[in-house]
Formats: sequence, C-alpha cells, structure tokens
Amino acid sequence: MFNIIIFGKPGSGKGTQADFLKDKYDLYHISTGDLFRKNITNETKLGLEAKSYLDNGDLVPDSVTIKMLENEVLSNKQVNGYIFDGFPRTLNQAKSLDFFLASIDLKINATIALEVSEDELISRLLDRGKITNRSDDQDIDKIKNRFNEYNNKTSILINFYRSQDKFFSVDGKGSVNDITSRLFDLVDSLI
Ligand code: AMP
Repeated sequence: MFNIIIFGKPGSGKGTQADFLKDKYDLYHISTGDLFRKNITNETKLGLEAKSYLDNGDLVPDSVTIKMLENEVLSNKQVNGYIFDGFPRTLNQAKSLDFFLASIDLKINATIALEVSEDELISRLLDRGKITNRSDDQDIDKIKNRFNEYNNKTSILINFYRSQDKFFSVDGKGSVNDITSRLFDLVDSLI
C-alpha cells in the first residue's frame, strides 16, 4: 500500500491533482471537503453539523472530522492505497491519523505540498467561485479566513511530517499538466 497526503493552502490544486494521482497509482481518493459538501447537499445530520463552518471558512471540529475520515477508510478497505486530500488539517488530526492507520497496519508514506503564493490563490479561488458557486470561494473575507486557519492550525504539520522524513514539496505554479508531471516524477522516485 502506498498512502499519500496531498497538502497545501485552499486553491493550491489538491483536488485536481489528487484525481490524476488516484488514476495513475490506483489510489482511493478521500477529500474531506467533498465529503462535507456531499453531506450538506444530502442534508444529513453530519451535513447540518458542518454547514456553518464551511460557510464561514472555519475548520470543522476535529471530533466530527476525524470520525468521518475513519469511517470512509473503513468502508473502503480493498484498495491499493489512499490519497488524503484536505486531511489532516490540525496536529490533532495528524496524530489521530497515524494512530488510526497503525491500528489497521497502515501508515502514511509521503506528504506532498503544492506551493503557491496567496496572491495567486486568491485569484484562482475567486475564479473557481464563479464556476462552482461555492460560497466559501466567492467572498474575499472567507478566503482570507481559510488562509488564517491554514496558517494558524495546518502549517505546523509541515514540521510534523518533516520530523518523520515524509514531507516533500512541489512547485504548484504553472499549467495543470506541468504540475502533474512534477508530482508523478516525485511519486515515481518514492515508490
Ligand atoms: P476543501 O474542499 O478541502 O477546501 O474544504 C472546504 C471546507 O471543508 C474547509 O474550509 C473546512 O470548513 C472543511 N474541511 C475540509 N477538510 C477539513 C478538515 N480536515 N478539518 C476541518 N475542516 C475541514
């Protein structure tokens, strides 16, 4: 099994690139943002719990997020590996993930960050907001709040994975194809 975390600020291209990585390396893609949005659309209890956090660009509490992630892994066990997109986003989530994966004899092999400047991300997110109607992509204050959440709660994970020798970063600027090739070259060198 080869398990990857795709890491980066909102709008860095995690979801797009995770899809390419999933296809090339036959991984199961888990996006916590997509899972929340699906639950919100279906008006489940979990969706109702998460909605206000997503609407404001705040992180959903760990207790809710970790349980949802673990259920998704346990419901999809016959796979060659996982690509985690948008999870973990806090130190508590990262530690829980290590603990949980160890309990089912798995581990994270690599965490790959897509590096893009905040200025570029703001224009990408506002463009995406016009196409997808995502409310958290349409309001500059909500976008900035998501960057704050990243800077305050998520960026510390860089050191967490660095200390495990699992942190790699890739230039996330340029064409989608160029970024995909950079990622494939990196992953090929790791497996
Ligand atoms: P994303 O699609 O990854 O940009 O996530 C959209 C929103 O879903 C985030 O702004 C959070 O409100 C919520 N979310 C997604 N993943 C997580 C996570 N790992 N922890 C807490 N909240 C999350």
